[in-house]
Amino acid sequence: MPPWIAFDVAKTPAINSRHRRMPATKAYAAQGPKTPLAPFQIDRREPKPNDVQLEILYCGVCHSDIHMARNEWQQTIYPVVPGHEIVGRVTAVGNKVTKFKRGDIAGVGVMVDSCRVCVNCKKGLQQYCKVGMVGTYSAREKSGDVTQGGYSKQIVVDENYVLRVSDKQPLAGVAPLLCAGITTYSPLRHWKVGKGHKLGVVGLGGLGHMAVKLGASFGAEVTMLSTSPDKEKDARRLGAHKFALTRDAAQLKQLAGYFDFIVDTVSAKHDYNVYLNLLNTDGVMMCVGAPPTPAEVALFTLIGGRRSLAGSGIGGIPETQEMLDYCAEQGITSDIEMIDIASINKAYERVLKSDVRYRFVIDMATLT
Ligand code: NAP
Ligand code: ZN
Ligand code: ZN
Repeated sequence: MPPWIAFDVAKTPAINSRHRRMPATKAYAAQGPKTPLAPFQIDRREPKPNDVQLEILYCGVCHSDIHMARNEWQQTIYPVVPGHEIVGRVTAVGNKVTKFKRGDIAGVGVMVDSCRVCVNCKKGLQQYCKVGMVGTYSAREKSGDVTQGGYSKQIVVDENYVLRVSDKQPLAGVAPLLCAGITTYSPLRHWKVGKGHKLGVVGLGGLGHMAVKLGASFGAEVTMLSTSPDKEKDARRLGAHKFALTRDAAQLKQLAGYFDFIVDTVSAKHDYNVYLNLLNTDGVMMCVGAPPTPAEVALFTLIGGRRSLAGSGIGGIPETQEMLDYCAEQGITSDIEMIDIASINKAYERVLKSDVRYRFVIDMATLT
């Protein structure tokens, strides 16, 4: 769940909608910023005419889940069931659903609704909905219900916010594409990164490893910029042509002014100026990592080279479908470590130590 949506919880009605409810759904939730995730039961609505009900098979673990479970962006509504990299099997559809039928494999990403009528929604940029997109968890639906995410057995979502997923790929490796995949695909496409471009990727975690794979597949020369010397071999296997250790000033000095584009995926406070200095004239640094603290930027770093510092949030529904279809065609999935749901708190600790290789995915069959 990205932080740029400053939806005003106080203005939305805290009522429970009168939708019919299914029997309780098993889930894992955090009850507060300092409590570990633990078993919990949630109510899901019975599918309405446009709804698709999914049995969740796999759910990726995004660093945003940790920011949100711990209220680091100060917008969490507790209890919170995180999870927005969802792949599942359709178990029921409403009578007006046309895109899905029972038995189909489908995905849900970071949002489950938006206003649908603003200029951005009409362009398919629902993530930038002028009213505010409805996040997959810890957000309020139009009905007033609070959304709950994918660390659960099933979910019910309007078909317009559900993605088609090829059943020809390993589904656990597809789940992270629903956030890590689209969040890196979208800016790379927006800035038309490809052949002849030098692309730097900062941070080899969930988003970073997808940026490497996608950047290389678009034809760019990719350099991994990492704090972890032991990730060099993996970076090259994932498609990086070069590797630089960002804690080694000499290695960075050699790359001054080198890149046309940099994607910054870092989740924690760090110095952006270090990376801006690596951009060539007219270079663009796209920030997708979302540390909770504001960044300090020395503007002369931008001025002296007409450089741009930009941000990008997930991707709209049409582009997410385009990305899933592209990855299916190219055989691109995420490199994952499958975990049981009971290991989720340990997995969070490993993510925080930059020790995920390169996305944890929960096997939801272990939620019993
Ligand atoms: P992740 O798997 O934890 O990867 C982050 C990587 O950043 C780490 O593996 C590490 O790579 C590097 N890193 C961590 N701490 C660092 C530090 N202090 N200084 C320098 N590098 C550091 O996280 P993720 O799931 O990819 O998510 C990354 C960020 O993107 C999070 O803040 C998340 O909330 C945000 N996000 C944003 C969007 C969006 O729409 N914009 C969508 C999803 C996620 P090395 O070991 O290689 O240094
Ligand atoms: Zn995410
Ligand atoms: Zn809208």
